[in-house]
Amino acid sequence: MKLRDFYKAAVAAGMAADPRGKEGVQEWLELRRKKYEGLKGDAKEYFDTESLENPFGDTRILNGTGDEDIRRVLVGIDIDAGEVVLADRLRERGQKVDLVLAHHPSGRALGNLHEVMGMQADILAAFGVPISAAEDLMDSRAKEVERRLMPGNHTRASDAARLLGIPLMCTHTPADNHVHRFLQESVDREKPRRLGDVVDLLQAIPEYQEGARQGAGPRILLGDRDRKAGKVLVSMTGGTSGNKKLLENLASSGVNTLVEMHMSDEHRDEAKKFHVNVIIAGHIASDTIGMNLMLDSIVRAAGHPIEVIDCSGFVRYSRLATARSGKSTGKPRTRR
Ligand SMILES: [Zn+2]
Repeated sequence: MKLRDFYKAAVAAGMAADPRGKEGVQEWLELRRKKYEGLKGDAKEYFDTESLENPFGDTRILNGTGDEDIRRVLVGIDIDAGEVVLADRLRERGQKVDLVLAHHPSGRALGNLHEVMGMQADILAAFGVPISAAEDLMDSRAKEVERRLMPGNHTRASDAARLLGIPLMCTHTPADNHVHRFLQESVDREKPRRLGDVVDLLQAIPEYQEGARQGAGPRILLGDRDRKAGKVLVSMTGGTSGNKKLLENLASSGVNTLVEMHMSDEHRDEAKKFHVNVIIAGHIASDTIGMNLMLDSIVRAAGHPIEVIDCSGFVRYSRLATARSGKSTGKPRTRR
């Protein structure tokens, strides 16, 4: 599979799993095109034209022409210059790495992170929050995130990749869309009664078992095992944490329990104030589920095996054989 097709398969899989639905994504791309067509001069020249086809600003090829053949990928949750050098060392030892794939964005993809946050408004609206409140509060939060990211030095990994001639790519929201859908569907199907049942449901997933072995397994942040879970909202995609003010709207829309990857103390205090239960599933383990599900889609599209070397918190667990034969292709490698 060529790098270009690997990238396209990741974007397509992300769009198929998007909480806005196919139509919502198309509508977003349409708006983007109109915006682009209305631009003039410099604003048009520096416009990220990739965003006319790919609705995920945080997902880009950061180094490479697109023509590279991809058979072996070094996959990690966070990739910096260190991991790029690691790929080069592996290459020196005879393990040629065709692509370094990060989950968290860097380079232009990190500068774009705020652009995907709007989708959180759609998720909240589906749970009864008025769309006007959701969009207004998410908009101000997205601007805050944009300001926070502005001063950063975002191109360290892509600069290292360029110097060493190693293709580099990041897939953030396409992967997060997968874990979001996977968990929300599990919760909707299993209908856990109590918070303890939600935790047990998570704990049955291999990536969370690995998370627990690393001391970062699912846990109840607010509430306790015997409390009723009520209406459960999984919140795992859309860039980064939303506006804490939305917790009040969520509570009044009847959401009783939030399942999140992580939560700041500020958000926690707000959730406590409005009596919302919170379960923290674990950051790196949740990101890993999303990347695994997305990689399964890419491998399916490739039609040939793609070898994955895992690093930087990521542990490969394929569900492809599970779907076909009821057997798993292997447990995540245990590290102690
Ligand atoms: Zn993450």
